[in-house]
Amino acid sequence: MAGRFDGKRGLVLGVANKRSIAWAIAKRLGDEGATMAFTYQGERIEAGVRDLAESVSSPLVTACDVRQEADCTRAVAEAVTALGGLDFVVHSVAFAAAEDMEGRFIDTPSDRFWMALDVSAYSLVAIARAAEPHLAETNGSIVTMTYLGGERAVPHYNIMGVAKATLEASMRYLAWDLGSEGVRVNAVSAGPVRTLAARSIPGFPTMETIVAERSPLRRAIDAGDVAGAGAYLLSDDARNITGTILYVDSGYHSMGM
Ligand code: NAD
Repeated sequence: MAGRFDGKRGLVLGVANKRSIAWAIAKRLGDEGATMAFTYQGERIEAGVRDLAESVSSPLVTACDVRQEADCTRAVAEAVTALGGLDFVVHSVAFAAAEDMEGRFIDTPSDRFWMALDVSAYSLVAIARAAEPHLAETNGSIVTMTYLGGERAVPHYNIMGVAKATLEASMRYLAWDLGSEGVRVNAVSAGPVRTLAARSIPGFPTMETIVAERSPLRRAIDAGDVAGAGAYLLSDDARNITGTILYVDSGYHSMGM
């Protein structure tokens, strides 16, 4: 049986290591036939990302700090050249200062507030703008990663929750802007998954325990679950789905207490 992503070409932002949600999605897409270019941020993780990319025969690994609009534009252009076009983008990037997740949200200083929104939300807009003409040629699709803390107050998630609210609203406005060109934009709202980014959230073990105890399915999720949902949203199976958040959290978001 042909893979759902045979002949599809994508750009993946947000692989830091083998535990990254972006990597789980990329693996799944690769298994289903996709060819992908990868970005990394910072020399510290470059070698690891190159090794992972090589394992899925990627033609391009390039640096991209999403705070630099020129990096976003260049990374998309390089990916289009290396891949010969673009069918999808995986946006799996976020950052907030550790100290802003330790204390009270009210104490977040202006510079770090905007830095978190810049990296975690505006980057989707910048990447979508750069990718738009290429995705329009292929009826392509974008998927981004969010968390329930963007809709409800989750202790310690703090500024990252505000960034996720901005990301989710941006996803919907991008879905409207790009929809007339046949381009879809969606988000996966994942329950807690143990990754590098998750380690910097002080309340993370509590988030994990509560989902396992109180979600309808009473179990934690893993990166493979998120990969399945991400792949679905990027696939033609979801051709009439856009501007949507798909929850992969054992049903936790549906509970009132
Ligand atoms: P991760 O640390 O593996 O990935 C985060 C990525 O963001 C890293 O690759 C990092 O290099 C990148 N990044 C940070 N600042 C950047 C910058 N300035 N420019 C470019 N890249 C930058 O952690 P993850 O958990 O896989 O996170 C991926 C996405 O999933 C994030 O948006 C995160 O908020 C979201 N998410 C994670 C969970 C979870 O429990 N792990 C749950 C819901 C949503």
